Amino acid sequence: MPRIDLRRLILLLSLSAVTLTAGNLFFASYQTQRNFLMAQTLEANRIYALKLANTTNNFLKSAQQQLAFSAGLLPAIWNQPQQLWQETHRLRRETNSFNSLIIVRSDGKIIASSPLSMNLTGAVAASEGYRQASSARQPYISSPYVGAKNHLMIQISHPIFDAGGNYLGYLGAGIYLNEQNILHSLLGEQYYRDGTYLYVVDTQGRLIYHQDPARVGETIRGNPAIDAVIAGQSGSLRLHNSRGVDMLTGYAPVPRIGWGVISQRPTAITLEGLQRLMLEVAGYAVPLLLLLLLGIWWVSTLITKPLWQLANSTQYWGSSSAAQSVSKVRAWYYEAAQLKNAMQKALLSLHQQLGRLNQESVTDPLTGLTNRRGLQLILDDWESRQQPFSLIALDIDHFKQVNDSYGHNAGDLVLQHLAQQMRRHSRESDVLCRQGGEEFLMLLPDTPPNQAIQVAERLRAAMAYTESPNGIPVTVSLGVVSWPQVGQTVAQALREADQALYQAKAGGRNRVVYTDQGMPPDDTNG
Ligand code: GH3
Ligand code: MG
Ligand code: MG
Repeated sequence: MPRIDLRRLILLLSLSAVTLTAGNLFFASYQTQRNFLMAQTLEANRIYALKLANTTNNFLKSAQQQLAFSAGLLPAIWNQPQQLWQETHRLRRETNSFNSLIIVRSDGKIIASSPLSMNLTGAVAASEGYRQASSARQPYISSPYVGAKNHLMIQISHPIFDAGGNYLGYLGAGIYLNEQNILHSLLGEQYYRDGTYLYVVDTQGRLIYHQDPARVGETIRGNPAIDAVIAGQSGSLRLHNSRGVDMLTGYAPVPRIGWGVISQRPTAITLEGLQRLMLEVAGYAVPLLLLLLLGIWWVSTLITKPLWQLANSTQYWGSSSAAQSVSKVRAWYYEAAQLKNAMQKALLSLHQQLGRLNQESVTDPLTGLTNRRGLQLILDDWESRQQPFSLIALDIDHFKQVNDSYGHNAGDLVLQHLAQQMRRHSRESDVLCRQGGEEFLMLLPDTPPNQAIQVAERLRAAMAYTESPNGIPVTVSLGVVSWPQVGQTVAQALREADQALYQAKAGGRNRVVYTDQGMPPDDTNG
């Protein structure tokens, strides 16, 4: 399985770090903003509901005060129907608080009413408002009910007593919940474009003001804000309303009548702006992030390139190009430089060792001359390069006797002596080798036959006339050929040289025989 490389690792790491950090920041700021917005909306709704509830309460209080004042005037004119009517008319016209006014006698008969169009004077009161007011016999605000003229209304009433404290009846003021009056302006016309809206419930949780008129009269159950406000509490809540909409709700009670004012705004609308804002933030952040990633990619390439190149060069560890490719690596930081340095040292020592091994593998240990393997390499090389050369094959004469008479060690010394002489009578560029046993070869590059013959002759003479180290007299026989003059191939030339050597032996030993192509052996006697 291919392993992931360092650059991808760095990229992956950076990418995940950057995206995690950015995502985290983004998420955190979204959460903070969101919580802030929701808390702010909840608080705004709570304060709004509270303010409206207080205003409503104050309105009811002043309405009751107005009624109380009027009711105080009535006993004095109790038997003057015209003046009673004028008082109701005045009350209705001077304020915009009440839609209708009636004066009801203790026996239930309506003795004055305004407006006249209601045509109630003389009738017997029978409404829910009458029932509640007459049984209360004290300042009273009824719960909402549907009145005689089919209005959804409340009635504010104040009892009338004569000087002796006898109950004469009451003054009742009708406030229609669906028609123009101060209360309606206060509670019924609150609508905001930002999605906030207001509704009012009575003590039973029945809607008495709502932006959707069709819902007025509906009783709402299971809404925690309504439950709390009916219980007289004010506050704020996030909740799902009766229609399942997620709402941020503020609520406050109107103490005088036990109603609840609820101001709310859908959570989704509250957060709408935030989502737009976050998108905008993302719009700024994403190009920067991309730029950052591009930068990271570039830097990661810079960092990993030397390591990658060093790692790659190990593929060619055995070849000489490894050293070259390692030396080309631009190791610009500490670790890479150290690694490069170490690799260069390792390569150097490896190649030195390999060189030594190579050297050993092509060298004959006894004489230090090139062995048969080295010889073959050189001959292959020269043949392929068409390198002309002369070749001297030589063999010690009667060497077996040397061994037999003086021992093998003495024989070895003689072999070393011969190698010594071969070195002395050759050039730096000549290749000297021991083929095996006491058979030797000399390769003389770019050397014409006559020069090669001279070299062979000098060597023969040297061996014949110099004393060997242990005083044993030793001679050699030599065969000389030149390539490519002799032999199609180098191997053929070698065979020809052996042939010449054989002839030197046959001719009496201690001599040089040169073989020319197709020519009969030319004996040269030292
Ligand atoms: P000729 O003149 O015909 O060459 O006679 P020769 O006795 O030299 O015959 P030949 O070349 O066949 O002899 C090879 C002998 O060389 C056999 C072996 O005893 C001896 N010899 C081969 N290798 C070594 C070696 O490494 N050390 C020693 N001391 N002797 C060796
Ligand atoms: Mg031999
Ligand atoms: Mg021999």
